[in-house]
Amino acid sequence: MPDPTSSPSDNKPLPPGMVLGPDGKPCKICTAFRNWTPADKPKRAQNGKQPAPGIAATMAAMAAGSSAVARQPDPDTRPEYCPPDVEQLGRATWTFLHTTAAYYPEKPTSNQRVNMLTLLRSLPVLYPCSHCASHLDTNIKENPPDVSGRVALSRWLCERHNDVNSRLGKLRFDCSIEKTDERWKNGPSD
Ligand code: FAD
Repeated sequence: MPDPTSSPSDNKPLPPGMVLGPDGKPCKICTAFRNWTPADKPKRAQNGKQPAPGIAATMAAMAAGSSAVARQPDPDTRPEYCPPDVEQLGRATWTFLHTTAAYYPEKPTSNQRVNMLTLLRSLPVLYPCSHCASHLDTNIKENPPDVSGRVALSRWLCERHNDVNSRLGKLRFDCSIEKTDERWKNGPSD
């Protein structure tokens, strides 16, 4: 697999933050939207949908070739027709996984354990961001999933998420069940 941060074979410099896929080409789903720089490519509405008014100005500026706008779009004003980037996919996946762990039984049946193991082990095979999947594969092999009950599973998942957080230079989360339940099941107490 090529180094995801190296330049493609034509030696054109990669935009900062652009990640290459296993085929050596820029990988859309591995790259944050703000680093995906179609500055030379005017944006257009899809399926006849017009961008919302706030977005229209951004799109017009991008179409006019303003690289400052094209490289730093506000993620909250991304048009709804945009496919997910690595960050949106990540947030959605973590939301699904942590919430599923929070509602996993205290005493799962063997069938539930098997299905949870299948779900977790399928992620490194199927996750569309290839370098994320590759890191996860190594991480899961070094730290086999604990599917014995919701407390153990919530902690295991929190630690795997923390491994990614550390790699990305983000803060680590407190993996106590009180904190993971507060975030993913109960909400704050007051
Ligand atoms: P996220 O990290 O998506 O977190 C969402 C919310 O979860 C946070 O707001 C916080 O409230 C809560 N949270 C944070 N940490 C924890 C924790 N440890 N336990 C419980 N809750 C927590 N991105 C890359 O750029 N490179 C990668 O290699 C990569 N690998 C990934 C592997 C997997 C399996 C997944 C699902 C995602 C991966 N991502 C990767 C995406 C990355 O983890 C983030 O989802 C993305 O950067 C968006 O980050 P965020 O700051 O919005 O919050």
